[in-house]
Amino acid sequence: MSLNAQLLHASYKELRTALDEKEVSSIELTQAFLERSKKLNTDLNAYISFTDDLALEQAREADKRIAQGEKGGILGMPIAVKDLILVKDYKCTAASKMLESFTAPYDASVVTRLKQAGAPILGKTNLDEFAMGSSNENSYFGATKNPWDTAYVPGGSSGGSGAAVAARMAPLSLGTDTGGSIRQPAALCGITGIKPTYGRVSRYGVVAFASSLDQVGPMCADALGSAAVLESISGHDVHDATSVSAKVPSFVALAEKFVVENKIKGLRIGLPKEFFSEGLDPAVDKVIKEAVSVFKGAGATVVDIELPHTKYSLATYYIICSSECSSNLARYDGIHYGHRTSKKTTNLEELYSLSRREGFGEEVRLRVLLGTFALSSGYYDAYYRKASQMRTLLRDDFKKAFEKCDLIAGPTSPTTAFKFGEKSGNPIQMYLSDVYTLSTNLAGLPGLSMNVGYANKLPVGLQLLGPWWRDDLLLGAAHAYQTLQPETLKGAML
Ligand code: GLN
Repeated sequence: MSLNAQLLHASYKELRTALDEKEVSSIELTQAFLERSKKLNTDLNAYISFTDDLALEQAREADKRIAQGEKGGILGMPIAVKDLILVKDYKCTAASKMLESFTAPYDASVVTRLKQAGAPILGKTNLDEFAMGSSNENSYFGATKNPWDTAYVPGGSSGGSGAAVAARMAPLSLGTDTGGSIRQPAALCGITGIKPTYGRVSRYGVVAFASSLDQVGPMCADALGSAAVLESISGHDVHDATSVSAKVPSFVALAEKFVVENKIKGLRIGLPKEFFSEGLDPAVDKVIKEAVSVFKGAGATVVDIELPHTKYSLATYYIICSSECSSNLARYDGIHYGHRTSKKTTNLEELYSLSRREGFGEEVRLRVLLGTFALSSGYYDAYYRKASQMRTLLRDDFKKAFEKCDLIAGPTSPTTAFKFGEKSGNPIQMYLSDVYTLSTNLAGLPGLSMNVGYANKLPVGLQLLGPWWRDDLLLGAAHAYQTLQPETLKGAML
């Protein structure tokens, strides 16, 4: 291969320059990433399927556009897409037996935008079934492994997208985040990922888990790459009434400006005491404090803040997400959508219930049951209504906190990656791995995770949370940190 293998490990900026200066073509790059991905996938299981034909056709098209002088953005840059997002004419499984043979009849709006932006789609990445999980162990197709050490989980639910980027099987990927599914795997795999402000990105054509919490977002080694993807997929969509018509800023330009104008200086960073309490691995705590001191050293001020309702976020999240999923997943009954039992049945109800029992995995069934219970008459007020009220209080906590600080920092996850099987028998332990990320989704805020070092020989993620619509601030601060600490950007399996 003529391609300079270093390019597979390049930063967003280096890759952009190589494409713009025609040092490499999109087709060469796409072929090289496909080749590397297929080789590593036997071990890592990061992709459920590849979309070679589409990727190569898109790459040829991108090369034509580049030849005509078009530049920038993600034009010609290959991307991996979580297998929860529809790509027309290709399988979309949601990592479930239920959708094992489902072919997408149309493109999700984010995919339409990726196509317009000229990013070749390499394939569909692995996840926890219907995005429910924190370790990828709930995938019907077997778990993805963490490229830093394959005895460990990559995080979830977007574990395939995280591992693919960490192992440089793709320079960019898309994940979804309902309660932490972009940020937690980004942390455990040592990369950057951002969950945008709710409403920033269209959910049309994304298999729904919990509609009031789900957001699609980018995962990439660095903040600039994430900014470039976010810029391409954001904006109002007529197909999604919750997408907002606010003008999409140029996230890449803003992040670069943030560094040039040294906006770290004077930035007030809030450290919530609830994010540094019991349950946090002291080794993670140490790396996080060091990262905060990098910001301090560059002129930021650190203030102590409180998010007093944080202790209720786990219960609130699981009532709301289970309630919404019990409704969203009602369509998979073997008639309208999804796997149909081959067993002989005598009535419709039996057909529905057998198909659902066979098609859904254990975690999905657990949540559908929980959600149905929480929404049932007699319990609705005690659970769903209470959880909705708590959601307002959690939002208010953040509103108050942002009067004192410009952004909030803390650990993304209480621990580094854990071993396969370590938490899978204990739902509470598993749920606790998202304890710092859940409240962001309940409040609709933007949240970013980036690698800031290593503990227990595994990556540690710093989480940054910003006020509504200030996704640019998170990307700017992350880019500033990464400019100061470029060694935190290296990938696994080099
Ligand atoms: N791990 C959390 C859950 O299991 C969050 C998942 C997500 O963000 N999709 O629900």
